[in-house]
Amino acid sequence: MKKILVTGGAGYIGSHTCKALSKAGMEPIVFDNLVLGHQWAVKWGGLEVGDLLDRDRIVDVAKKVRPEGVIHFAGHSCVGESVSDPAKYWRNNVAGTINLLDALVYINSPPVVFSSSCTVYGITDVDLISENVAVEPINPYGETKRAVEIMLKDYEVAADLRHIVLRYFNAAGSDADAEIGELHNPETHLIPLAIASAAGDMKALKIFGTDYSTADGTCVRDYIHVTDLADAHVRALNYLLDGGDSNLFNLGAGVGYSVREVVDAVGRIVGSPVPTEPSVRRPGDPTRLVADTGHAREILHWEPVNSDLDNIVATAWRWYQMRKQVLSRPGLGADKLDVS
Ligand code: UDP
Repeated sequence: MKKILVTGGAGYIGSHTCKALSKAGMEPIVFDNLVLGHQWAVKWGGLEVGDLLDRDRIVDVAKKVRPEGVIHFAGHSCVGESVSDPAKYWRNNVAGTINLLDALVYINSPPVVFSSSCTVYGITDVDLISENVAVEPINPYGETKRAVEIMLKDYEVAADLRHIVLRYFNAAGSDADAEIGELHNPETHLIPLAIASAAGDMKALKIFGTDYSTADGTCVRDYIHVTDLADAHVRALNYLLDGGDSNLFNLGAGVGYSVREVVDAVGRIVGSPVPTEPSVRRPGDPTRLVADTGHAREILHWEPVNSDLDNIVATAWRWYQMRKQVLSRPGLGADKLDVS
């Protein structure tokens, strides 16, 4: 069975990808410091607890596991926090990745799939963003993703490290079996917050900006189901394991929904309207971000089959209802988590 090292595999997208790897007959070995990730989400292979900033630890794990491929999720991803604490982002996302890539060079450069983000595009005025659109990040988080993308190219020249960069749009939804799901602390994402409001567990949802130049005045985003993202990672990895060249793909559903459209869908699926309150724009929010998904469809033969908005919200809502039960199983450490 092929061993795949998954950094950040205890996190939201990482854990869904481990499940997909296991279904595809591979063995995911998670490397995670469990700061943002959850031990309960590591269910499909081994766990090596460690921090990428500990160079000796990642070198030891790489030498012990000798993976045939690597998927690199580990990192921080909150735009606002990256503005207030850039050092945390440059250290974890960039310095941590240098240690990982050095460790991989010691074991003959297995191919790497890297989690990047549509944040690298910054503000664009195109309707659908293709991979050819200029990269101009407007915050430190996006800058660190761009830096790693550049670094990967340099390591390829120096050490034959083939790689695929995946630029995600808005990851959303949860595992259809509700075995794992989205759980951030604090939660900042639209869909889980709208669900919490509709369920009466949170006060009114703030709508960040109602005066954008969109049909209803709210921001438009491309919501991609986490299971479709996981599938894209497996395809990207197989492409590299089959000898494919380095490449770069946008991953979105290719359809844009406004904040109000998402809120309406949540109200309909939860069965009670989301209480909302107009609020000021959130700094750093572009008006519209929607992917042109042609390249991933053509080269990876990938289709975002689960990313219909209603399915995204329905799976997120199911996980929201199930998670206390899932996390209350003995030994999962749920007592230490705020799952309210
Ligand atoms: N949003 C909002 N209220 C919230 C959280 C998010 O209006 O409480 C908006 C946000 O401004 C953006 C969209 O919802 O336009 C998606 O935000 P999210 O944080 O989920 O993802 P991001 O686009 O930042 O990756």
